[in-house]
Amino acid sequence: SLEVQQEPSTIEIVPGLTIGGKEFIVGAGPCAVETREQICETAVAVKAAGARMLRGGAFKPRTSPYSFQGMEEEGLKLLAEARELTGLPIVTEVVNPRDVELVARYADVMQVGARNTQNFALLKMLGQLDKPILLKRGMATTIQEFLMSAEYILSEGNRRVILCERGIRTFETATRNTLDLSAIPVLKQQTHLPVVIDPSHGTGHSALVPAMCYAAAAAGADGLLVEVHPCPENATSDGPQSLRPDDFAAMMNKLRRFVDVC
Ligand code: PEP
Ligand code: MN
Repeated sequence: SLEVQQEPSTIEIVPGLTIGGKEFIVGAGPCAVETREQICETAVAVKAAGARMLRGGAFKPRTSPYSFQGMEEEGLKLLAEARELTGLPIVTEVVNPRDVELVARYADVMQVGARNTQNFALLKMLGQLDKPILLKRGMATTIQEFLMSAEYILSEGNRRVILCERGIRTFETATRNTLDLSAIPVLKQQTHLPVVIDPSHGTGHSALVPAMCYAAAAAGADGLLVEVHPCPENATSDGPQSLRPDDFAAMMNKLRRFVDVC
């Protein structure tokens, strides 16, 4: 049987913080790291609201080559400063296999984006790291293919894989993607790996994000990855789907009705 079916469900993110157990773990932060003030202000705000991880992209897999591609190592350094300030572990994306070593020097959790779910060369490299991997489901991958991608990491020896559903491509245009919440119970049947939901890319609209957070918690997810920006209208990427810090805090308070946060 598949490696993924035998995996224990609790994964250590950093010493003292696990996912896949009783606690519901929320990671939050901007789509992209933009400035020291932006990432530090966001980190402080999301921590105060109950987030346990800070997200932020330093390497951005943009659809257009003319869009902002991220601050690269400068962004990683700012993430490290925000971690120093708040104690929050960092989740950040590695886009290119040649940057794995660089990103791993700063990241606590390495994110594989939806455009790289089946980049098997990247997955194999990440399988050789001693670091948790947050693997996003590709926008056109089936759950079976998603699990096979997880297997590429696991089979190289890295047991710490967190699965992230972030929406798939359908005919629907009201949302940016169609968030497949049924993937939560399906994945729970088929693997013991922790499952988190990204309602930001899953909907594309900040007003729709809180409802999907509550639904994910009610459906048995182990956590969330949510985009938060101090000033979404000025964000370099994904402003329309980013919550303001106060809206994030309100969501976190209501989330406690559905699940045990902190
Ligand atoms: C992101 O998390 O900012 C991102 C690019 O997500 P995805 O890979 O799911 O599109
Ligand atoms: Mn984004």
